Amino acid sequence: MRRVLASFFLLMLFLLIILPSILARSCSIPAPKQKPAVILEKTPIISPAGELVLKVFRHDLQAREEMPLEEYLVGVVAAEMPAAFAPEALKAQAVSARTYTVKQMFAFGGSGCSQNPGADICTDPEHCQAWAGEKDLLAKWAPEEAAQNYEKIRTAVRETAGQVLTYEEDYIEAVFHAHCGGHTENSEEVWSTALPYLRGKNCSFCAGSRWSQTEYIFTQEKFLQALGKHFPALPVAAAGEQLLQAAERSASGRIKSLRLAGETISGKEIRQALDLPSTRFFWTYHDQEIKFTVHGYGHGVGLCQYGAGGMAQAGKTYPEILQYYYTDVELVTIKAP
Ligand SMILES: [Zn+2]
Ligand SMILES: [Zn+2]
Repeated sequence: MRRVLASFFLLMLFLLIILPSILARSCSIPAPKQKPAVILEKTPIISPAGELVLKVFRHDLQAREEMPLEEYLVGVVAAEMPAAFAPEALKAQAVSARTYTVKQMFAFGGSGCSQNPGADICTDPEHCQAWAGEKDLLAKWAPEEAAQNYEKIRTAVRETAGQVLTYEEDYIEAVFHAHCGGHTENSEEVWSTALPYLRGKNCSFCAGSRWSQTEYIFTQEKFLQALGKHFPALPVAAAGEQLLQAAERSASGRIKSLRLAGETISGKEIRQALDLPSTRFFWTYHDQEIKFTVHGYGHGVGLCQYGAGGMAQAGKTYPEILQYYYTDVELVTIKAP
């Protein structure tokens, strides 16, 4: 009887524990095919100013990190401009971003990022400058083009290493925007200060590209909803059909102010409320709809990125591009502080 019990026990052990584990091992599901691993080559970028260390507040990690200035700039150019743009446009972007950064650096007498004490700059594109790390870039680029894109951007930074823009020996506010819509803007129309090197310029180089002309159609209902949400104190719903009136435009054609339900509203506020890409817009009423035709993307001051792309395509060099969008500036190499 004991022997019968023992063999029954052994049989159960085999059936319940050993057999399932053998089966599970023999029919395990193969691991899914991984994206091919791409290694981004990083030959160091030597700056004539020596290695400058930047204190960067990482918006994504909510933490401060130190990185070499030129390495940081690779991440800025990669985040701010499509890698498909011509090399001279990428170089203009690199110089622009470097100037913007150096002007903020404590080491060069700047006052850092006002939102993150102790940091020279932050990676919040709404505050300082956009920046993308290697992980972001590998997620954004297709594996077969990642290495080539990265090297193209590193070359733009390497070939302009240490170069910045000055006006009367002071670093300029090297602001830039995606697309000017045909004419860049004077600085005082967007911020309060008139800067001699941030003058509106006619720009045909961005014509015919992604943001040259976009259209946004609002039903009366959707329109009133958006305005009511943004301007809760205004009686927009009672204002009738011809709600927007009497626009004042800047010389570049951007809306400075308009009348909305009896109040004067800035172009910037309306752009925000309706989520339009720029203040260079026009509108028409059709039955129950309002159609906005918008030219450009961004504030319009300084370098027009699509314009830089167009100039580079037309054979212009990066100093020519920079000197077109920033009036009377000098391209110099920074000295170690
Ligand atoms: Zn910041
Ligand atoms: Zn332009």
